[in-house]
Amino acid sequence: MKNLTCKHCGGSVTAGDENCAHCGIPLAPDYGSSPQKKFKLFFIGLIIFCLAMILWLPPDWSHFIQ
Ligand SMILES: [Zn+2]
Repeated sequence: MKNLTCKHCGGSVTAGDENCAHCGIPLAPDYGSSPQKKFKLFFIGLIIFCLAMILWLPPDWSHFIQ
């Protein structure tokens, strides 16, 4: 479990908690999950996919050079 802080009171909350244990403020259902991390994984996957495609289908550079 990740240690998170309540945005309202600054107390430590657990990911998946519906309410803050300290001030009782409702926490977002996805609080603790980081969409940025998912986006990063998606981005890394996209880069790997592009590299795989470049290696699989080598671009014909002569078309651009001439
Ligand atoms: Zn709180």
